[in-house]
Amino acid sequence: MSDITKGMEYIIKIESVSSDGSGVAHIDGFTVFVPQTVTGDTVNIKIENVQKRFARAKLVEIIEPSTDRQEADCPYYEQCGGCQLRHIKYEKQLEIKHLTVENAMKRIGGFSNFCIDDVYGADNTERYRNKMIFPVGQKNNKIVCGFYAQKSHDIIPLGDCALGDGINSAIINTVLDYMNDNNIAPYNEHTHKGTIRRIFTRKSFSANEFMVVISATVKTLPRYENLIQRLQSISDRIVSIVLNINTGNMPLGNKNITLWGKNTLSDTLCGVTFSISPNSFFQVNPEQTEKLYKKTLEFAQIDKNTSVMDIYCGIGTISLCAAQTAKNVIGIEIVKQAITDAKENAAINGITNTEFYADSAENIVPKLIANGKTADVVILDPPRKGSDEKTLSAIIKSNAKHIVYVSCNPATLARDARLLAESGYTVTRSAIFDLFPHTVHIETVVLFEK
Ligand code: SAH
Repeated sequence: MSDITKGMEYIIKIESVSSDGSGVAHIDGFTVFVPQTVTGDTVNIKIENVQKRFARAKLVEIIEPSTDRQEADCPYYEQCGGCQLRHIKYEKQLEIKHLTVENAMKRIGGFSNFCIDDVYGADNTERYRNKMIFPVGQKNNKIVCGFYAQKSHDIIPLGDCALGDGINSAIINTVLDYMNDNNIAPYNEHTHKGTIRRIFTRKSFSANEFMVVISATVKTLPRYENLIQRLQSISDRIVSIVLNINTGNMPLGNKNITLWGKNTLSDTLCGVTFSISPNSFFQVNPEQTEKLYKKTLEFAQIDKNTSVMDIYCGIGTISLCAAQTAKNVIGIEIVKQAITDAKENAAINGITNTEFYADSAENIVPKLIANGKTADVVILDPPRKGSDEKTLSAIIKSNAKHIVYVSCNPATLARDARLLAESGYTVTRSAIFDLFPHTVHIETVVLFEK
């Protein structure tokens, strides 16, 4: 037990940074997490919350800054939940990420000497996102749009978010002007009254084009020609304006009506063109994604005789990139619409050696493999919860030569890697890619060989 209680203040030195981006220190052996601090900082902190094994504290004052500290350079940083590492120099951010993966592989995976071979930082650490969602609401009788404050639905009005394109603030202001001039109310989450819920923007990096999606509760927007006219006057880079009908609880509803311009944007990755509709999943940082996919394909060692299985394939991004060299590719994904998009993307690119299945991996992978649909190379890119025993056991039984595991969560990667290592696979290569500078997210790719 510790004597530490809520409200107490301490001066401490930060020893490391945890996987959620908080600085870590010890007070009489008791662990304390302090957001917005970094290894080497001497800080005054105030305890906010005490649990059995650790406490969380708030930064009150920096007494002596770490040499790894930098100006966060964003006026919203302290309130916004979007970035966690902006106060840390970029080189140090990368070090924190690669240590997080190595620690997980050692502690959870049981790999005693695990070292990441390569760390691929981003050339552009700002304005890298191709997708932004801004909630719209009301505050002090004014319509506001911006982002949610940390762990709340309180909207902080936004001038500019440094992770997205600068055009977003002009789009937000234009939509708010249109709402004010036409008496269109923002949606209220409590009363369920009002019309416009969110402004959602997508960018095609290769075409430098934008789609503006207005998520609203109605089937038709009042005086929408007026909105189109205003948005058109911002920039001819805006090529698509869409109304998304959203009466549910998700950020976007399922039905879209194109108000003006294109129905979809198209972007390219590794020479393949992808058609992206408002609801499609597409990696948010295409520059870094391309590097990640190239490494994934290099690890996979595909040639014209290789059969590939791409599990958790989304809209078929990795599958279609692999299909350019492979004999054939089977893509598996649980979301039906994503598989429809994958098939369409195969057709757009004239790719004919792919087969896609809309089903859960745990259900279909064992069946396909039992029916002789084995692959020389299996690529896995699961969601944060990782893969599962049924899928992994089937892959192991199939005797795949190479397994390339792309992971967005070091903890579940390490858990799954342990299972593969216990079943005769050895980790032979690994790399991390920073797709999300200034945030704690990490993408890791690991090659397992039989
Ligand atoms: N490889 C793709 C998508 C990776 S994201 C890309 O790089 O774009 C992980 C994907 O796994 C998501 O598309 C998600 O819908 C899918 N998914 C989640 N659970 C699944 C399951 N149990 N079986 C198959 N796919 C699943």
